[in-house]
Amino acid sequence: MAIKRICKYGEKILAKKARKVEAQELKRILPGIISDMFETLDAVGGVGLAANQIGLDLCLAVIKIKKEEEEDLRIVLINPELTEKSGVMTGEEGCLSLPGLFARIKRFSKVKVRALNEKGLPIEVNAEGLFSRALQHEIDHLDGILFIDRLPFMTRLKLKPALMKLKRRWKKMDESKLPRGKEAGM
Ligand SMILES: [Zn+2]
Repeated sequence: MAIKRICKYGEKILAKKARKVEAQELKRILPGIISDMFETLDAVGGVGLAANQIGLDLCLAVIKIKKEEEEDLRIVLINPELTEKSGVMTGEEGCLSLPGLFARIKRFSKVKVRALNEKGLPIEVNAEGLFSRALQHEIDHLDGILFIDRLPFMTRLKLKPALMKLKRRWKKMDESKLPRGKEAGM
């Protein structure tokens, strides 16, 4: 198990649609990758992480949502697909690939997602609230879309100076060298 460096905004892999995971890869390479992804997520205190955020061209994401009274929601999504969506919600969003940057993003309030779990079995999840937001954020990652791409052009333009400033800081960031971080995002 290892904490991985997270790719930052501007790195090409984040803008590319991820390759579908093949059946023969499930047992061979995925268990190690999935545990590294959860370990990385825990180290930075994030909600979700897509494989391309740690430099792997694979259609795979993990989500972990802390629950107060029950066990944390922890889910692996292989080749996920948004099959149903309805409603609208707007809320603040961040991203582990753009640490320190937050913006209000419009999302569907309810979604249904089909995927394979870590055992390669088909699953279907219905989500709303933070879980729904996280699912849409991670599926976007796997399609090469970042949350700032969802912003209106003028808002993106206004964010540019902050983005440029943060970019200099991101150059020096390497999560694999941090035992535990404090930034939260997806
Ligand atoms: Zn993200």
